[in-house]
Amino acid sequence: MHEPSCYEEEDISRQSLPFGSPYFPAYFRLLKWKILDVCVSTMKFKDIGDFALFEDCFPPGKLEEVVKKITGEAEPFTQDPEFKKLKETEVDPKFKRHAETYLKLRHDHKTKVERRRFAEYFLNKILFNEQGLRIADKLIWQHSRQVYGTAHWKDLPKDWMTTDTYKKKFYDEEELERDPYGMQRLDRVAGSARGMLIMKHLESDHLVRKEYDVLKKEVSDPENLCQTELVRNLLDEGPLWELKMEEGEEIIRKADKWNVHKTLVIFFYITGFRAKSEKEQEEWFYCLMDAMKNDPTNRAALHFLNKNYAEELDERQKERNRRRLQEFKGLKVDEKGVGNTIVTNIRPQKNETAYNPDADETNLVLRVYQEELVQPALEGKNCVIVGPTGCGKTEVAIYAALNHLRERQAAGQTGRVAMLVPKIPLVTQQKERFLQYCRGSFTVNGFFGSEKSDSGEGRKDDVIESHIVVMTPQILINMLQSVRVNERLYVADFSMMIFDEVHKATGNHPYVIINQIVQEWEHDKPQIIGLTASLNVSSTAQKDLSQMLFSIHTMLALLNAPYLSTIKLQASIDELNKHVSKPDDSVEVCQPTATALRNYIETYLGTAHIKLCHELESLSKLRHNCFPSNSYRRFKKLSPKFYEIYESNLQNINQDLKKLNTAEKTIAVTWMKYIRLYVEARGMVDLMPARLVFEFMEARIRELDTGHKLGDQFSDFFKKYSGLEANAKSDEPMIVTKLKDTLITQFKVTPDSRVIIFVTQRATAQRISDFLNKSHIMDQFRDPDDDGYDEMVGFVLGTNNQGGAVQQSQQEQQKVLSRFNNGKMKVIVATSVVEEGLDVTSCNLIIKYNCSSGSAIQLVQRRGRARAKNSRSVLLAVNTKVNEDENNALISEKFMRMCVKKIEEAGPKQLEIDVAAAAKKIAIERKNELTAQLELRERFANSLYKLNCVGCSTTFCMSSDIKKVYSNYMAFDPAAWQFFTVESKKKKPNSYLSEDTQPLSILKCAKCVTTVIGKAYKMRGVYLPQIDVKSVFFVEENSSESKTAKKWSSVEQELFYVGEATQDNFEDMLNALSNNECNMDKKRLLDLDSKQHIRDIELKKYRIRNEEQEKAKAERMKKAEQEGVEFEEGEEPEPEREGATAFSEDES
Ligand SMILES: [Zn+2]
Repeated sequence: MHEPSCYEEEDISRQSLPFGSPYFPAYFRLLKWKILDVCVSTMKFKDIGDFALFEDCFPPGKLEEVVKKITGEAEPFTQDPEFKKLKETEVDPKFKRHAETYLKLRHDHKTKVERRRFAEYFLNKILFNEQGLRIADKLIWQHSRQVYGTAHWKDLPKDWMTTDTYKKKFYDEEELERDPYGMQRLDRVAGSARGMLIMKHLESDHLVRKEYDVLKKEVSDPENLCQTELVRNLLDEGPLWELKMEEGEEIIRKADKWNVHKTLVIFFYITGFRAKSEKEQEEWFYCLMDAMKNDPTNRAALHFLNKNYAEELDERQKERNRRRLQEFKGLKVDEKGVGNTIVTNIRPQKNETAYNPDADETNLVLRVYQEELVQPALEGKNCVIVGPTGCGKTEVAIYAALNHLRERQAAGQTGRVAMLVPKIPLVTQQKERFLQYCRGSFTVNGFFGSEKSDSGEGRKDDVIESHIVVMTPQILINMLQSVRVNERLYVADFSMMIFDEVHKATGNHPYVIINQIVQEWEHDKPQIIGLTASLNVSSTAQKDLSQMLFSIHTMLALLNAPYLSTIKLQASIDELNKHVSKPDDSVEVCQPTATALRNYIETYLGTAHIKLCHELESLSKLRHNCFPSNSYRRFKKLSPKFYEIYESNLQNINQDLKKLNTAEKTIAVTWMKYIRLYVEARGMVDLMPARLVFEFMEARIRELDTGHKLGDQFSDFFKKYSGLEANAKSDEPMIVTKLKDTLITQFKVTPDSRVIIFVTQRATAQRISDFLNKSHIMDQFRDPDDDGYDEMVGFVLGTNNQGGAVQQSQQEQQKVLSRFNNGKMKVIVATSVVEEGLDVTSCNLIIKYNCSSGSAIQLVQRRGRARAKNSRSVLLAVNTKVNEDENNALISEKFMRMCVKKIEEAGPKQLEIDVAAAAKKIAIERKNELTAQLELRERFANSLYKLNCVGCSTTFCMSSDIKKVYSNYMAFDPAAWQFFTVESKKKKPNSYLSEDTQPLSILKCAKCVTTVIGKAYKMRGVYLPQIDVKSVFFVEENSSESKTAKKWSSVEQELFYVGEATQDNFEDMLNALSNNECNMDKKRLLDLDSKQHIRDIELKKYRIRNEEQEKAKAERMKKAEQEGVEFEEGEEPEPEREGATAFSEDES
């Protein structure tokens, strides 16, 4: 093929978008950063390179100035001369250092923003007129022939997206006619869109998988992106500038756009999609709109693209559903019912041997206490294994399961273990744990949603093929009760069942239902193992020992497991202590006192919160895209009374405010500063002598109040000062008194004690050490030869500090630690996240000062336990709403230990007797329940009602067709379906999902169309219509008298009997929707919704995982903040190193 030797020779007949095309300018402008890049790269020493070509587009001399601004040396950073004048002695050196860094950063930012401004100016100037555009086009031709080709849609393959579609979507004919060189729809869309967010959404849309891949490739191709460092820097996130004509003058204005380069590339390459049919072209456009709709930032771009996007997207969704229905039309699938078949022998796996003999298995070796725990299970006993969090109970269960499977294998028997976990994310987690130890020898499968539960498919075969299945209990119930052959499992299919977090087995928990099914089973039963860290079976009986014992017995009876496996041997206990931290020896809960200062701060916070919200509200009206944020919506509802929660939310708002670019935010920012100060003071009030809080507030308010207008609109502290001081300055909260008492007692009894006081915040550590020293309570315990000069209490903060108010150098810390170790210093206060350098071996009292978690505490409790035999730990806690739960947990933990001790002392025989008694009681209760049901049925033996639509009186079914499944009332009449229409439920992504109890679609009356009858469910693999009691009225068959009811329970009490649905009922409904065309359409729609439902469960699973990650991240950020380290946005502190995470298995 003939290659043109110069730009003018280029054969434009092969271009679908030649230079003269009116569509060309806007499309070519998507390349603008590339053009700048080319110009920059051609620059040589003291010469402006290809920039010079654009000379004529600018007023005389202007171009040089612009180029110099874009590419020239940045002005060096010089200190403010005033600032320089300040002498070291006048200013805190730390403050000066901070100020310097700040000024330097501000300078750099200014330079960058200015460069960007001029770059935008240059590009706008050259790309909105024919002359500049022509030169730029030629430049691209010279420097990147490939990009040039793409820009002109040159030699597009046949199956490429037709240019017509692109034009139709991204241009407005009228606009184009008016001024092809002016702003086009495409400019506006590309300019306001955030490309990376669009990409993220396209990634999850399987319909545009191929297109996504193309884009991904193009976006990450360095050829397409800009290559000079200068231009790359200019393209960083941040405010952009745009050129505007205002009153005949060109002015540059700030615009909010981000991530432009990638966004532009996306719109540039959309034509690069292969799309055979018009339908497919519509499809990608629809997906693009959908991707934009999903985040608020892109909705402005979407608005430019298509003002009616909401309606159109909705219409497309409906159309998609209709098409899917069409695809399956005429496809009739009858399901096979289970009938009377009962499987009484375990069904063998087809592959008895290893599923992957080469796989890398870890040999599972148990610790001493784990060996003790597993023993009863190895003997084949039904038992509940109790071990503290972090002790590795899952490993114990895995060991028991593998041992069980191997023994059965050796004996020529089939074995199959079901591991049941109460939450969806645990399925994957526990499955991975099993695989780690047996991937080479056994098949492990995990089930959490309704995978494969569609017509004709089923999970039964997958379960039968496995040696180990991990699932949520609801799935096992569904399968044990399913009427579909492909889904149905039998109790006999399992030789062992393990219940994780078995203490949940109360009331109607699925664990209880499974165990009922197992106990009613008349053939071989599996061995039952329960795992738990806490035996707090019933939360109401927490404070009554015999009640609690009884609920433990009841749980064991439900499981038919009269054996409690606990750690009893001394060797086990010793080893356990090495691995798991021991709880505190004593807990003191101090009631906070309502002092005048505390009241003042709380009142202030209440008022200030309202003022801040008011400011934020008016800011939100100013800028729609940034504010109000989600965190603001949450924040608005909060009360500063719960100041710990309030504080962390305040930080989110603070972050949002930082992002906001408007001068109007000043007042909100100032309120924020004062509120943060008061919140910090509020945190101090309960923990420190009031005097310190006064000092803190005084100093900080003076700092904030730079104009020295003391007592201005933001804080009345100084106005109220003298009154408060007279009332409150000598106040001392109870926890302070307790702390002093604890110290004095300790040193009176053991004069050579070493004490560590743990606190959560850096500032607190310093303040506490300070007030203890000033209170002189330790002076009486000085060694006789002590000169009395050095302080008795010190503090350490750890060494990983990078900023913040309170700091400590390595040397300072070493000095404190060595004085502590040689006994000169008796007490140190430390933050709970100190990671190293803290030698705790000589310490014999640990005081946790309103602080109960942290890596240092775990370290101390583990190591300290092993070395200093008489060491003690004390938790001093202020009783607030926030730590109430923790205290409750501590108390019930205590009770549980007492229960276990009682059970151990009474011996296994007694336990068997007690469990049997509890079992008897359960049996009697169940019998009574049954009798009551029978009586009810007897009472209503002659009542029969019609259920009629409240809207049009159509009779849907008879009262005898209504049956209960869990607490839903369903019409078990196959003929009822014809009276209902099925409508997809609008997605509510945040509502709770469980695989079986989630309604799929909305049912409406087919005749009057408007009346909502109820919802369609899929239970045990069968679609069922659930009837809303208010959508029907009841007509007595004999008397024709009609009645209504507000609740199903009153129907049951007054009108007729409703029984539980039986297997036969389900089987009747199994193929109820396959009998005619109209019902088959409904079934297909339900299938669609059911598929969507499975996707929701998948999403939910990942959402939980993401939430956990988010939560962990938030925790780390919070911790870092407490440590005094400030983080820039996007930068994250390293996760805390913790030894205990390896076993963090079961706490929710
Ligand atoms: Zn009706």
